[in-house]
Amino acid sequence: MLYNNLSGYFRNKYGRRLGKICIDGGFSCPNRDGTVGHGGCIYCGERGAGEHIDQGASIKEQVLSALKDADEDEMFVAYFQNFTNTYAPVEVLRERYDAALIDDRIKVLAIGTRPDCIDEEIARLIASYKNRVDVWVELGLQTANDNTADIINRGYHREVFERAMELLDKYSVPVVVHLIVGLPGEGLDEIKETVEYINRFNLFGIKIHSIYVMKNTRLAEMYKNGEYAPPSMEEYVNSAVYILTHVSPRVTIHRLTGDCPGDLLIAPTWNRNKSEVINSIVYKMQLEGLSQGCRH
Ligand code: SF4
Repeated sequence: MLYNNLSGYFRNKYGRRLGKICIDGGFSCPNRDGTVGHGGCIYCGERGAGEHIDQGASIKEQVLSALKDADEDEMFVAYFQNFTNTYAPVEVLRERYDAALIDDRIKVLAIGTRPDCIDEEIARLIASYKNRVDVWVELGLQTANDNTADIINRGYHREVFERAMELLDKYSVPVVVHLIVGLPGEGLDEIKETVEYINRFNLFGIKIHSIYVMKNTRLAEMYKNGEYAPPSMEEYVNSAVYILTHVSPRVTIHRLTGDCPGDLLIAPTWNRNKSEVINSIVYKMQLEGLSQGCRH
């Protein structure tokens, strides 16, 4: 096994792959509404990192629509994806998570959020769902470098991430951390710094995203002004292989590239070919006799 992918994790645990129901939970984001910042992270689109999800439907409608043609023995992850899915009082959170868990075929509740929107009460609420389904929280760290965090307008520094990790660990809530390769000002040195940093934590999973320049973002303006250029595919592949070979062999790899809707993509064009990117990573690992964690 070159790396522990999510499909393998599901096959071990459930005997099959699980489908993913991407849900817009109707949340906003404190980095967009002025609470923490305005304008959001520079790469974030108008739909808060969930561009492909239909707008307007209730949570229940979104789930029912995803399940309508599913077989009785299929299984699913309910993934709260857009914006910040812990950015509300706990009663509201409970109502919205419950609205997704309306069918026994949903085996996992996955919640995407920001570390500054995790407090003790929220961590306890999320942990309470472990009686019903598997649960994990996805935190958009992207980089461990606080200078880059300021450049991308992430709106928090890494001690905030550390506090959230402590709370989630206290309640034994598994965490998937999101990383982005190709952020402004970052190269392999910053990737190394980020890998060294995340290796300090007990992570369940990692999502590795290749950056893309999407229409109507601050990053698109920077790209047009010549202030930013995305990495080449080769640079991305080298960084992804570095991450895979230096993280723990026990961590589950949930994602190996980023996915921009074709009509919104400005650059890089290689982002359109997801399978080529993944195949190139796998090919390099095979060619060089590497595997996940071999240099951990
Ligand atoms: S935290 Fe997420 S939703 Fe909020 S601005 Fe950043 S990428 Fe967008």
